[in-house]
Parts: sequence; C-alpha cells; structure tokens
Amino acid sequence: MQTISNETLQQYTDLLKSNEKVMPDIYLALLSQLNPQQQDWLRQQAAQTAVGQFGKGIYVRALIEISNYCKNNCYYCGIRCANTTIQRYRLTQEQIIEACQKADQLGFKTFVLQGGEDPQQNDEWMVQLITNIKTLFPQHAITLSIGERDKEAYRRFKQAGADRFLLRHETYNAKHYCQLHPHNMSRDNRINCLRQLKELGYQTGTGIMVGSPYQTMQDIVEDILFMEQLLPEMIGIGPFIATPNTPFEQQASGTVDQTTLLLALLRLRFPKALIPATTALTALDDHGREKAILSGANVIMPNVSPPDAREKYAIYTKKNIFSETADAIADIQNRVNNIGYHIDWTRGDYPLTIKQQNNHV
Ligand code: SAM
Repeated sequence: MQTISNETLQQYTDLLKSNEKVMPDIYLALLSQLNPQQQDWLRQQAAQTAVGQFGKGIYVRALIEISNYCKNNCYYCGIRCANTTIQRYRLTQEQIIEACQKADQLGFKTFVLQGGEDPQQNDEWMVQLITNIKTLFPQHAITLSIGERDKEAYRRFKQAGADRFLLRHETYNAKHYCQLHPHNMSRDNRINCLRQLKELGYQTGTGIMVGSPYQTMQDIVEDILFMEQLLPEMIGIGPFIATPNTPFEQQASGTVDQTTLLLALLRLRFPKALIPATTALTALDDHGREKAILSGANVIMPNVSPPDAREKYAIYTKKNIFSETADAIADIQNRVNNIGYHIDWTRGDYPLTIKQQNNHV
C-alpha cells in the first residue's frame, strides 16, 4: 500500500479546510493511504473543526418512522417491497402527532418523519400531516425523509411547513447506482430530486452508505465531488449493513472505521454542515455514536417512534432498541457527557444560508 508522510497529510488537511479546489487524487489518498495513527489524527482535526463551529453541543432530532411499506425494491434495504418476511405497519396521523407530543415533552425541537415510499401516505395525506403538526408546533422544525416525489409535491410540503429534507443520493456513480437498485429506479431522478429540494429552499441532506456492495474508493470520491456541487446543509453517512432477506444478505458490511474516516474528511471540507452520528453506526458498534462525534458529527437522531413500530422498521438488523424513549435519551445524554459534550436542545438549523458559506468551493 502506498503511504503518505505526516507533512503531506498536514498539507492535504489544510487544503481541505481552505477554499481551494481539492483534486480527486488527494481525496483518494486520504481515504486509502493513511495509517491508523494518521486516520485518528484526521478524526481529531475534524472534531476540532466541529467544536470550532458548534461548540461542544450536539443537536438532537426526534426520529419518527411513519411507515415501513415501500413500493421500492432497493437490493440493500430490509423494508424493500419484495421482503415478505417483515410485518408491515403504517402509523396514523394521530399516532404521529402523539409521537410529536411526546418528543416535544422530552425537549425536542425537530421532528424527522421518515418512511418507505408508501403510496397510501400520498401527497395530500402528507400535506395534511405537516399542516397539523405545524399548527400544534409552529416553532418546531419538520424534516422529511420519505423518498422521491415530484417537484410539485415537494413544493406543497414546503408550503405546508416542512423545513428540511433528507434524501441520500446513495451513490453518484450511475453504474454503481444500478448495482444497488432495480432498473425502474434511476440515479438521475434521485439527483434531480435533490436539486429540486435545494431550489425550493429546503435545508437539504444527502449522503451514502459506506462500504455498500461494489462501491470503490473512486465512487466515494465522486460522491464527495457531487456534494461540493450540491452544497448540502446536511450530510448523512452510515455503514452499509448486510441485512437478512435481501439480495445483499451475504455481502460484507461496511465498517465503523471507514465510515468515521469519511465523516472526518467531510467535516473538514463542509465545516458548517449538520452531520449526524447515524443509527447504523450504533448497530455495528455500541460506541459508534461517540466515535462519530469524535470524528466531527454534531447531530443525533434518537428514535421516538412507538416501540412496536421501532422493531418493525427493520431497514437493517438493529441492536439496542430501547422500549422507553426516555431511557434511550438518558443513555444518549450520559454517553455524550462522558466524552465531554452535551446535548444542545435548540432547533439546530444550518448556521447560515449556503451562499454565505465562507469555506470552500
Ligand atoms: N424512503 C426514504 C428514502 O429513500 O430516502 C427513507 C427511508 S430509507 C430506508 C433511509 C436510508 O436507509 C436510505 O437512504 C439508505 O441509505 C439507508 N439504508 C437502507 N438499507 C440499509 C442497509 N442495509 N444498511 C445501511 N443503511 C441502509
């Protein structure tokens, strides 16, 4: 394996932090040529950058998994429509509002509504839901993560009060996209959706699974270059987890090390981005969340779905499903405190409009 010197690493890190263009080869070297000590150094640099930007506060979002019905058949995902082994559920508007109320009582100021692409939760239904939540909680932020819809639907959701939208592009490389998805899904449509969300003024999140089947380092570099164009306000990355009863059940999962290294690199390049310590990390490593924070993550999304739904929303095999949300919050709070951070209960919007972003590109 090729290696790079500490001096070169320092130069590359300075470049990441600058407004200068970073050549693909440099990203490639940072992702593949660092020894474990150098990787840890990069993670520390990223954590310092995050602290410089956000202090030691970690924003929290209440995650509500609104349905595990999905019309899509992504090869990696446990809730893909062809998986007949899982029990399907969809929350009613009343159940979702109840989850929002509980989350509000716990102190959350952001609700993240995530689900499969469930045809029954159609545009009309979503507009009604968002309107109802916003009427009850006008000061809270609503984040949607409900997949691909047309621009008119995104416009209506925004008008009804949605503030943010998470839609991972999964991979920018079109060939790789086809290896992860059936032919009726397209990379171009996914990217188009993201551009529309940005145009409509959403705080927009994208991201990838790290270590997904057939992914190459070049693919990851393309993903970073795409993010430099899109300038997402949020970046969600997590390890791919091989999941039973999917076409990829026998594939190798991604790793925590790979994921936190990429996370560090992204933090250095996108200092103001909201970057969560994703649940997939905790599924692989009990301390995955802490490791992500110590690599530059600044957001946690505890699950506040009704316990029954939490078990059934099995996009991958999960560990540590708490039956009581309050217990989970206390646990998270302890863990965050133990590494010298604290929970920041404010809304935690993106710091500035993207045009004001002073760093890079
Ligand atoms: N349907 C919405 C969408 O497509 O954005 C939201 C739900 S989808 C299940 C949320 C994310 O879960 C996906 O973007 C994907 O990256 C991640 N995911 C699905 N299966 C996974 C797996 N086996 N391992 C890790 N992440 C996975």
